[in-house]
Amino acid sequence: MTILIPIFGDQLSHGLSSLAGQDKKACVILMAEVDEETEYVPHHKSKMAYILSAMRHHAEDLRVAGWAVDYVKLTDAKNSGSLTGEVARAIERHKITALRVTEAGEWRVKAMLDSWPDCFDIPVTILPDDRFLCTHADFESWAKDRKQLRMEFFYRDMRRKSGLMMNGDAPQGGQWNFDAENRKPAKRDLTMPKPLHFAPNAVTQEVIQMVEARYGDNIGQTEKFSFAVTREDALQQQQHFLAHALPHFGDYQDAMLTDEPFLWHSILSPYINSGLIDPLELCRAVEAQYQAGKVPINAAEGFIRQIIGWREYVRGIYWHAGPEYVESNALDATRSLPAFYWTGNTDMHCLSQAIGQTIAHSYAHHIQRLMITGNFALLAGLDPKQVHKWYLAVYADAYEWVELPNSLGMSQFADGGIVGSKAYAASGNYINKMSDYCSDCKYSVSKTIGDNACPLNALYWNFMAKHQQLFSNNPRNKMVFANWQKKTIDDQQAILKRAEYLLNNLHNI
Ligand SMILES: Cc1cc2nc3c(=O)[nH]c(=O)nc-3n(C[C@H](O)[C@H](O)[C@H](O)COP(=O)(O)OP(=O)(O)OC[C@H]3O[C@@H](n4cnc5c(N)ncnc54)[C@H](O)[C@@H]3O)c2cc1C
Ligand code: SF4
Repeated sequence: MTILIPIFGDQLSHGLSSLAGQDKKACVILMAEVDEETEYVPHHKSKMAYILSAMRHHAEDLRVAGWAVDYVKLTDAKNSGSLTGEVARAIERHKITALRVTEAGEWRVKAMLDSWPDCFDIPVTILPDDRFLCTHADFESWAKDRKQLRMEFFYRDMRRKSGLMMNGDAPQGGQWNFDAENRKPAKRDLTMPKPLHFAPNAVTQEVIQMVEARYGDNIGQTEKFSFAVTREDALQQQQHFLAHALPHFGDYQDAMLTDEPFLWHSILSPYINSGLIDPLELCRAVEAQYQAGKVPINAAEGFIRQIIGWREYVRGIYWHAGPEYVESNALDATRSLPAFYWTGNTDMHCLSQAIGQTIAHSYAHHIQRLMITGNFALLAGLDPKQVHKWYLAVYADAYEWVELPNSLGMSQFADGGIVGSKAYAASGNYINKMSDYCSDCKYSVSKTIGDNACPLNALYWNFMAKHQQLFSNNPRNKMVFANWQKKTIDDQQAILKRAEYLLNNLHNI
């Protein structure tokens, strides 16, 4: 009996469920680079280079660990271009009698795996992905009979389940959440650690050249490629984060500064999502830093909340909501994505910064994604499916299960409030408070009308006025609508006129 174990680009973990307990001599691992995966959205070139190089390095690690690995490169002459096609070819090559695979990370790939028992005349075993704290069944039983699926309550269950930052049944520090202490704006004179730079080795250089040759027109610059591509190097970045950035992670989690893409963030999401870093192991290391007195509680709790709270929660929502979730468009938003999302060429300094660093590094931190690119898309009524595809394409950590609930749900409110209880809509005032972007902008953040007025101000009022019926019941918006009502009719009309002008000229602002 010879078992074929296909391993995908987001399954680069030595402890993967499909490998566990298997006799290495009876198995062949298949790893394949296929057009189907490199082309389902126009991925950033560094994202592609990262995943393909990490796959090639992982294949080598598995060989060293004693596994037989059959690796198919994108450039192999007989490459069929699809994972199913490569499994079919490998079954022939190795006289395979059974297939064993860890479940898919997204609906698209799940549909493919579900078709395998019909495609191949051999037994197919699909195993749960046990790299998550919350199983699908756990999430369903948590969601059952709840009117609202709020992250905060889910997070508390995950704290209890994992025992992270707990004293028996009570949260350490006496409260579950130190979110209010995660909102300091940063100042330019603070010194912040730079993430480690991993110079591309020969394998990565070959991959970069291949990506440039095949996908040269895709978004992104590979010259600044600096991702780790092995577990060993990813763990170095983890150590670097724990020692140097974690202590201030909590304070400056929401801050933004010109030409500082990374601040005190971990830059670990590509490694966590592709499997090089184990999220629970990482959370335990963060907890240990807190217990050793090396980091404050707002940093440790804040970080752990992102992983066992938000990350696990969005995965639960993704599978709970079903494949049709991607079609949601609760605000009927239909405008096309302006071209500057692909070039960064806009006079709005906040957007040119967030998009510019995305092009350079395939990275932007959470508040840039939510409150800069996401906020603009929300206020401008951009088509949420186009917005989703943009996020899926441009970030090195983007896989649909984690990207979709964040972009379509949290950021665009297109799911009508499943992920968030409110729309994350903000005027220039918020951006001015949390960043230094406005001081270098062609537009004036204090103005709402006039040619040089910050576009976000008029767009914000226009958005709120347009969706007043939907949002006015939310107590958090009471002040907003009271302020809108206080304006004279003439002022309201001038603001709406400015917004209309901007919406008709999105490509030129
Ligand atoms: C519109 C939008 C799209 C996003 N798309 C993705 C995506 O495709 N892939 C992705 O991993 N994250 C996504 N996020 C969440 C978050 O922005 C990134 O996880 C984070 O910026 C990654 O950078 P970091 O590793 O430096 O994170 P840090 O700020 O250091 O946070 C630590 C870790 O927490 C996890 N995390 C934090 N916030 C979230 C969240 N909201 N959902 C899930 N995990 C979270 C990540 O694993 C991250 O590495 C998105 C957020 C928004 C608003
Ligand atoms: S003034 Fe407005 S457009 Fe310019 S950086 Fe500030 S918020 Fe962005």
